[in-house]
Amino acid sequence: MSSMKTGRFIPTATGRNRKPLELPDCVHLTERCRCGILRVEECQGEHCAFRKTEAACRESRRKWIRALRAMSAEEQKKTAVKYYNGQMPWKEI
Ligand code: SF4
Repeated sequence: MSSMKTGRFIPTATGRNRKPLELPDCVHLTERCRCGILRVEECQGEHCAFRKTEAACRESRRKWIRALRAMSAEEQKKTAVKYYNGQMPWKEI
């Protein structure tokens, strides 16, 4: 076994880099293991009310697109002007 240290080495004896493996699957978790949306010292874990998985993100985006496309043309225009700087990103997908 080599004692060479590299950037990809995860020491198992010290447990120093094990923390990321214990954090929940959340799209808001940054590469530095910090929360990207809440002002908290550390991630709140599995039971956090704001935790969102990649699959949940895709699902909510699909619902958003479906809801906006279901609006009348006039309502879509009003929404685009009010919230999307005149753009209609739901039509481009
Ligand atoms: S689980 Fe909660 S605290 Fe942790 S990264 Fe996600 S939103 Fe932030």
